[in-house]
Amino acid sequence: MRNIPLVDLVAQYHTIKDEIDSAISRVLESGRFILGPEVEEFEKSASQYIGTKFGIGVGSGTDAILLALDALGIGEGDEVITTPFTFIATTEAIRRRRAKVVFADIEDDTYNINPSEIEKHLTPKTKAILVVHLYGHPADMEAIMDIAKAHGLKVVEDCAQAFGAEYKGQKVGSIGDVGCFSFFPTKNLGCYGDGGLVTTNDEEVAKKIKSLRVHGATKKYTDYISDGYKSRLDALQAAILRVKLNYIEEWNERRREKARLYNEYLENAGLCLPVEKEGCKHIYYSYVVATQNREKLQKHLKEKGIETAIYYPIPLHLLSIYRDLGYKEGDFPVAEKCAKEVLSLPMYPELKDEDVKFICESILEIYGNTPI
Ligand SMILES: *Cc1c(COP(=O)(O)O)cnc(C)c1O
Repeated sequence: MRNIPLVDLVAQYHTIKDEIDSAISRVLESGRFILGPEVEEFEKSASQYIGTKFGIGVGSGTDAILLALDALGIGEGDEVITTPFTFIATTEAIRRRRAKVVFADIEDDTYNINPSEIEKHLTPKTKAILVVHLYGHPADMEAIMDIAKAHGLKVVEDCAQAFGAEYKGQKVGSIGDVGCFSFFPTKNLGCYGDGGLVTTNDEEVAKKIKSLRVHGATKKYTDYISDGYKSRLDALQAAILRVKLNYIEEWNERRREKARLYNEYLENAGLCLPVEKEGCKHIYYSYVVATQNREKLQKHLKEKGIETAIYYPIPLHLLSIYRDLGYKEGDFPVAEKCAKEVLSLPMYPELKDEDVKFICESILEIYGNTPI
């Protein structure tokens, strides 16, 4: 029986093993493990790639959002509008700042926050919109930036799943006030531990984040801007990311090729397939289909040795820990429907075309269509 994983990090390591191994030993020989030249070099090339003046390496994607909100002055009494269809880290960061999470429903084709829903939830306390580019497809940034401008709001982009994705020629993470990236191993640009990056064109925000990540210090032991955090990108992860950054274009392109292949084979499968909106470059962190027969499909694929996953089975507004927010079933019908129907199929740059074919044939089997 085949065994096709959802992601295969070892396959990727083997394609760049020599470069990774020598980057790691370079760091070990340098004796510098936290921040330092490796991190600075990575920050420089990553921010250049994204298209912002500044890039600040931090401990994780979650911390990137947390420090970004802090640096933008978001805290108690403020409201932040975001999507209920995301990983909990997005809203966790808002709550850790003691700000209020306010959800707005999503679009049923891109799964991203719906700009026309945002406007319904604006109040005088709204301070920011926290956008998530889910699965690697950019949110509708033009409409979102228009709303933000009209109401004097900050825009934070959660780009954890979208390194290299583009909206109308601009990379995500360079459009709002601040971009937040995660280098968790399974992300499309991942390191071999935890890591994150904040991108911005705002010098003040960049400076604040640089202090916040080192306990709030501007000068070690003598000067602090505020209570801070201990959240740095480490030199080993930065050295690994410097190698991987050189491949990200190629890897994203391969993801797009796999997606095209899936789309072609699954055209008549009766599933809802991913879309790529005009002017957007989807990088397919995840290839997500939607169906009312999800359980049956997932079980069938498992029997065939194909791993799948559900991102995310419960929209955040229905989680028990968020009961205090006062939401109930039916408040965000699109997010609720998507949570019941989405299924992520295997996706990684090294995924073999024949495996994509096998996966699609297996899907078509249960839908009773003609095999490929
Ligand atoms: C992974 C992820 C995060 C958190 O990143 P970590 O590096 O794991 O802290 C935040 N938001 C989204 C949408 C993610 O997928």
